[in-house]
Amino acid sequence: MVFSDNELSRYSRHILLPEVDVQGQEKLLSAKVLIIGVGGLGSPVALYLAASGVGEITIADHDKVELNNLQRQIAHDEQGIGHSKVSSCYQRMININSHIKINPINDKLNGELLLSQVAAADIVVDCTDNLTTRFEINQACVTYKKWLVSAAVIRWEGQISVYHCGHPDSPCYHCFYGGRNDSRQNCSNSGILSPVVGVLGSMQAIEVIKLIINKGDSLIGRVLLFDALSMQWESMQLPKNPNCSVCGS
Ligand SMILES: [Zn+2]
Repeated sequence: MVFSDNELSRYSRHILLPEVDVQGQEKLLSAKVLIIGVGGLGSPVALYLAASGVGEITIADHDKVELNNLQRQIAHDEQGIGHSKVSSCYQRMININSHIKINPINDKLNGELLLSQVAAADIVVDCTDNLTTRFEINQACVTYKKWLVSAAVIRWEGQISVYHCGHPDSPCYHCFYGGRNDSRQNCSNSGILSPVVGVLGSMQAIEVIKLIINKGDSLIGRVLLFDALSMQWESMQLPKNPNCSVCGS
């Protein structure tokens, strides 16, 4: 791949990083990432990955933009209210970087559609807000042995982890959360501090980039817990459950 002057200029601050360099930027431009949900977490993920030059990004969401989203979902604005979230997010992404391919899916991503989109992606980013959907995404990622970058936020707290789904040594999302019921706690009934989604979404984007360029230590086998009130991070080991009904042997 030969970079144009335009691309060299656009990505110069990446290329200056020895861990990225021209080779890393080429990998980013060749990568395919699936972002499921373009709300609070998905907004910064989508905007940073578009700005970073990830070559093909699929965004999926079936919601429309509402006024109460604008407190934290920074891909959307007042003009987008009443329009689909994917069209609103697509417009912001393409305004930042018109040289990448963006596939908007204005639909609920489940069943065959979910499987086909996961199969086509290098990395899946879970930015959804309910446990049932998260389990289905995890199952699809285990089936197709995909990287899954997962985060969740509520109130002043957030957590993030990375799974190399289907890999013999990596836990999957179900290993850790499998026994849990959807407690129905979410942003709409418990609240969420606006920038907390920005912190966790930005960290998801960082992990995606590190996986693509294959640099640094990823969060595989670990979960990071963030408490914005005490401004503390906690790192916990996330062991594989050999009896996991999704990824266990
Ligand atoms: Zn598992």
